[in-house]
Amino acid sequence: MARYAFISDIHSNVQALESVLTEIGRAGVDGIICLGDVVGYGARPVECIELVREHCDLTIIGNHDEFMIENDMDPLLNDTARESLMWTMDKLGEAHLDYIRSLSGMVYLSRDLMCVHDNPVPSMTGYIRNPRAASNAFLGVDRSICMVGHTHVPQLFHTATSSTDAAAIPLDVQSHYLEDGYTISLNPEFRYIINPGAVGQPRDADPRASWGILDLTLGHFQVNRAEYDVAGSRQDVLDAGLPGVLADRLVLGT
Ligand code: ZN
Repeated sequence: MARYAFISDIHSNVQALESVLTEIGRAGVDGIICLGDVVGYGARPVECIELVREHCDLTIIGNHDEFMIENDMDPLLNDTARESLMWTMDKLGEAHLDYIRSLSGMVYLSRDLMCVHDNPVPSMTGYIRNPRAASNAFLGVDRSICMVGHTHVPQLFHTATSSTDAAAIPLDVQSHYLEDGYTISLNPEFRYIINPGAVGQPRDADPRASWGILDLTLGHFQVNRAEYDVAGSRQDVLDAGLPGVLADRLVLGT
C-alpha cells in the first residue's frame, strides 16, 4: 500500500466522520488508518466505533478510548472530558469494548512509517504542539515518518538530524501548520512527525473536519478539510445532555 488516508480524533462526531469517509472514497486510497480517540466529547460513540471498525484498515488506540477499558480515570482530565467519558461508557456494549481492547498502541507499518496516538516516546504522553516538544518526541522516531494525532491541529515537524543520532535531541526542528489542500513534499533525508488534525473536534479555529493523505510513492502529504453538518452534531451534544461547551466548541473549531 502506498497511499494512505489518515484520520484521527473523531470524538463521537458521526456527522464529521461520515463526511470525511465520503471524501476519502472520492480521493481513492489504498488504506485508511485511524490514529485514535474514536470516542469521548461527542454524542454518537456507537456509530463512530462501528464506522471505524468497518472502514479502517488499522486503528490506533487513543487516550479517550483507553479510558473506556481502564478502571482508573486520568487525574489530569478536566471535568468536561470526564463527564463525557462517563456518559460514553454507559452507551457502549461489550462488543464495542472488545473492539477497543483489540486496538493497537504504537505500530510500525513499514520501513518508513510508524503510527501512535500521542507521542512516540512511550514515557511521554504530552502534546506535540511546538518544535521544543517535537525535539523530545523525535527521540522515539526511528522511521522516516511518525504519524500522530492528539493535538487536534494539522501540523508537521521535521528534522534533518538522522535517525541514527536518535540518542541526541535534534536542535533543528521546524514546524509547519498544514493548510487545507496544501501538498508538502517530504525530503527523504529528513525525519517527520505529521498530524492530520482532528475529524470530530478541530482546534485550529477552522470548524471543518480535518484529515490527510500520505502518498509514500510520490513522497508527499496533504491535509484536506471537509465541510459537515456542524449544527446537527452540536444539537446531538445538547440533546444528549452533555456539557454545552462541547457543543459550542464544534462551531468555533476550538
Ligand atoms: Zn483527542
